[in-house]
Amino acid sequence: MLWRTSPSATELEEVATNWLRQMLDLPAGFEGVINDTASSATLYAMAAAREAASLKIREKGLAGRHDLPQLRVYASEEAHSSVEKAAIVLGIGEEGLCKIPTDTSFRMKVEALENAIKKDVEAGIKPICIIPTIGTTSTTSVDPLKEISTVCRKYRAWLHVDAAYAGAAATIKEMRHMFDGWELADSIVVNPHKWLFTTLDCSVLFCRRPEVLRQAFSLTPEYLRTPDESNAKNLMDYGVSLGRRFRALKLWMTIRSLGTEKISNAIREHISYAHRLEEKIRVNREFELLAPVPFSTLVFRFNPRSLKDGHANQDSALNLLNGKLLERINESGEVFLNHTKLRGRYGIRLTIGNLKTTWADVDLAWTVIQHKAAELSGI
Ligand SMILES: *Cc1c(COP(=O)(O)O)cnc(C)c1O
Repeated sequence: MLWRTSPSATELEEVATNWLRQMLDLPAGFEGVINDTASSATLYAMAAAREAASLKIREKGLAGRHDLPQLRVYASEEAHSSVEKAAIVLGIGEEGLCKIPTDTSFRMKVEALENAIKKDVEAGIKPICIIPTIGTTSTTSVDPLKEISTVCRKYRAWLHVDAAYAGAAATIKEMRHMFDGWELADSIVVNPHKWLFTTLDCSVLFCRRPEVLRQAFSLTPEYLRTPDESNAKNLMDYGVSLGRRFRALKLWMTIRSLGTEKISNAIREHISYAHRLEEKIRVNREFELLAPVPFSTLVFRFNPRSLKDGHANQDSALNLLNGKLLERINESGEVFLNHTKLRGRYGIRLTIGNLKTTWADVDLAWTVIQHKAAELSGI
C-alpha cells in the first residue's frame, strides 16, 4: 500500500522495473509501476491522458457538464480490446474511441489518423490520447511510431504505446529498430507475464510523466497519512488499488536467476524458430501465411489446391475448413493453437514464447498441423 507498510516491496519494485527499463533500452526518465495486467495499465495511462487534458474531470466528473467537449482517443482497428474497455470505464465511451484503418500489413495508417483528428478538432472534439501498438494481438503488426508521435505532439495528445507482448523483443539489439520512437511516448506498457518468462500476473507501466499519473490517482485520507510522504514513493498513488501483491519479487527473481543474456537469447531463439516455420509455410503449396511475421507469432491458413478452383465463395469455405482444422489440432492434445480473423479470413495463430520451447517442439507442431490437414481433406 504505502512505502511505510513494506519498504522492501516498494523499493524492490523500483529496482526490478528499473532493470527492465535498462534491458529494454528505454531512457532513464521512465519510471515503472507494476500492475496485474496490461488492461489495467492502459486504463491508468488513459486516465493520466484525461488528467493531462486539464478539464477538471477528476474534480467535477463528466455528467451534466455543458463546458466539456466530447473526448476522443485514437487506436488502430487492430488495437487490443482493453483500449475500448478503458474508454468505457473512463466515460469517454465506445464512440469516443476512433478506430483508425490499417494498411496491408495491418499497421495504422498515419494519414487516416491525421485526417480523423483534423476532422474532430474542426467539429470541436478534443483529442486526448493516441495508442499505437507494437505487436498487435492478432498479427503482431507494428504501428509507425515515429510518424504517430509527430501527429501526437502536434495535437498535444498523450502518447501511450501498447507493447504488452512484443516489448520483450526490445531486449535484443537487432530488434530495437522496431521500437524506434517509443522513447517519445508518455507511457508504455510491457507484460513480463507474456514473453519475459514471469508467471501471471505481472505487467509494467512505464511512465515518462509519473507526476501526471499521480495527479490522476493520488488521494490520501487521514488514516493513510505518513510522515515520509515527501520523500517516499507510495505505490497506491499510481492506480486504483491500495493493497497490492508483491509482484516485483518474481520479476526480480526472473531477471536475477536467468540473467539478461539468457533472457534475450531465449527471445532471439523464439524469433528464429518463427522465421524457420515461416519459411516452411511459405514453400508449402497447401498453406498460406496471412500476415507478416515480425516477432514470434504466425498467422496462416490451410488452403488446399483442391479448393482453389471454381469455388464461388472461397474464403467462407476456407474459414469453415480452418475452423475444423484448428479443432482437430487442439483435440490431438499435442499442441494448442488459437485463431483470429483478418479482413474476413479465418487464420490459425501459432505463438512461440515459453522458455523451454525448442525447435523440436515447433517442428512437432508443424507435423501435427500438416497431418491433421491431410486427414481432414482426405489427402
Ligand atoms: C495481451 C495483450 C493485452 C492485454 O493484456 P492483459 O495483461 O491480459 O490485460 C493488451 N495489448 C496487447 C497488444 C496484448 O498482446
